[in-house]
Amino acid sequence: MSSKTKRKPKIAVFKFASCDGCQLSLLDAEDELLAIVGEVELAYFPEATRAALRGPYDIGLVEGSITTHHDAQRIQQVRRQCKTLVTLGACATAGGIQALRNWKDVDEFVRVVYASPQFISTLKLSTPISEHVPVDFELRGCPISKAHLLELLSATLIGRKPNIPAHSVCLECKRRGQVCVLVARGEPCLGPVTQAGCGALCPGFDRGCFGCFGPVAGANTAALTAQLLALGQKDYQLARLFRGFNAWSWPFRKASEECEKR
Ligand code: SF4
Ligand code: SF4
Repeated sequence: MSSKTKRKPKIAVFKFASCDGCQLSLLDAEDELLAIVGEVELAYFPEATRAALRGPYDIGLVEGSITTHHDAQRIQQVRRQCKTLVTLGACATAGGIQALRNWKDVDEFVRVVYASPQFISTLKLSTPISEHVPVDFELRGCPISKAHLLELLSATLIGRKPNIPAHSVCLECKRRGQVCVLVARGEPCLGPVTQAGCGALCPGFDRGCFGCFGPVAGANTAALTAQLLALGQKDYQLARLFRGFNAWSWPFRKASEECEKR
């Protein structure tokens, strides 16, 4: 088949409960977007195009967490339509900031916030996509890194494993020659338990990491908690620190609940 007649892989982008920031990371790839669009067919992407081609799709990119009964059904449909399913960002991989409600009474929020609560239908929990359907790859971050997204797309299109760093923010921090704010100033920093991807942005501005890329594989939250307690942090402060954008990811969730229980 000549390159002119070769079928282009169909990509679809789906949104669930989220702020759209991760989809914007794709649109923000201004220098690379034309090259990507030349290689694929953007079959479904309501944020960017009016075209809506029917599935099946070769790659489905999913942003957002599952928070309603309707979404819980829709993600099943999305999974059936996509050969490869990739989640984008903290909401889709860890329930997002909206998972903070998972420790609270949702009905009370609905009563207090909405003038006509009888029209609101929501689940008690905000959950990641992987709690509902099998996921082929999870891209971390709030929002995701544009470089990770481009690497993921290029690798998937040519059929190799994406080369996304699996080390912690501390390694990036050391690589840029940053003085450690935890050791030098006693500032709380989740860098040791957070996956790299941002180039250690926050320590570069003399502040601790609050974990927006989610837990690194093998995150030793117990050791970090002990260290932060020894530096004078209180349990309630650490429970809050672990409950950021990735609160429902198991390592951060467990660490925050242990701090809360003590
Ligand atoms: S500042 Fe934070 S991320 Fe950087 S080395 Fe220290 S603990 Fe790790
Ligand atoms: S919070 Fe942590 S992971 Fe997020 S940008 Fe700052 S240093 Fe990077």
